[in-house]
Amino acid sequence: MEPSDIKSMDFDELRAELAALGEKEFRAAQIYEWLHKKLCGSFDEMTNISLALREKCKERFSFCNLLKVDCKESALDGTRKYLFGLADGNVVESVFMRYHHGNSVCISSQVGCRMGCTFCASTLGGLTRNLAPSEMLSQVYEIQKLTGERIHNVVVMGTGEPFDNYDNLIRFLKMISDDRGLNISGRNVTVSTCGIVPRIRQFGGEGLTCNLALSLHAPNDEVRAMLMPVARRYPLAEILAAMDDYYGKTGRRLTFEYSLVDGVNDKAALARELSLLLRGRNCLVNLIPVNPVKERGCRRSRAGNIENFKNILEKNRINVTIRREMGSDIDAACGQLRKSYMDREVGRE
Ligand code: SAH
Repeated sequence: MEPSDIKSMDFDELRAELAALGEKEFRAAQIYEWLHKKLCGSFDEMTNISLALREKCKERFSFCNLLKVDCKESALDGTRKYLFGLADGNVVESVFMRYHHGNSVCISSQVGCRMGCTFCASTLGGLTRNLAPSEMLSQVYEIQKLTGERIHNVVVMGTGEPFDNYDNLIRFLKMISDDRGLNISGRNVTVSTCGIVPRIRQFGGEGLTCNLALSLHAPNDEVRAMLMPVARRYPLAEILAAMDDYYGKTGRRLTFEYSLVDGVNDKAALARELSLLLRGRNCLVNLIPVNPVKERGCRRSRAGNIENFKNILEKNRINVTIRREMGSDIDAACGQLRKSYMDREVGRE
């Protein structure tokens, strides 16, 4: 039998697995605590578990551990970007950021991505595979251990489209907010999607309290399709209706991300169109000056255009922030660290 991935099991599943091995429920509670609260790195660290049971566990279960391959720290703001190795040799990146409201970790949900957004580095090599819940959890756990600091917020905004790995995402979200684990409230978790309508609707029915961010990047389908192939699949009207449905069910303020690309989506007329599109919604627009990716050939909007875009939204009473750039000296844009690592590896071959 294939060893099953113990860190991807929720408490009830772990309890059932251990019951099948003839173990009592309190053992499951102890092991779950070792895995998800004490964040141990191996069965051998579980000192209140008998040697015999630890050995049985080693036979029966696989244990997800991430290997720190690289870490870059920004000299500007202390943001740290980690590159983690997975058991099969793939690598993913995760980012640690300190904000006034607490420490945040940005995690990846897939190895690579198949959405193909034209400005994004994560999608250059396509999708390799989905991440298991244990691999998403371990990014947060590992960073909490490496920094020695409590993580307060989690954003699923790294490499990958979280709604393209839906079941594992939901399991991750439930486990990270479980009080038997890190107990990070859904209110402190944000999931960012490129706009997969059926999944947005399904997400609203999960009974979670997470924040939902939509990568909007344009106020109409025509401009959006120039940046995001997925726009040809789901029209904005349907996406916004699904976002409104999520708001109706959860009451969580919606976030719309808008990466500004010089000459493509940063014109004043588009800012006015965006204001009309979002009017009346309880939402925040997050403007992100695009991080130029060498292979992508798109340029960041000029400072004056960014300011102008923001002013137009404000005049129309849309909540807007320009995302404070974190770690701009360390390739913190999605997928850039992984990309430069893979280029180095290819160069070595
Ligand atoms: N697939 C999800 C989450 C990952 S991308 C999504 O599309 O939302 C996280 C955010 O970063 C998205 O808004 C994405 O469009 C944006 N992004 C990706 N590459 C970028 C770049 N080079 N510059 C600025 N924003 C970028």
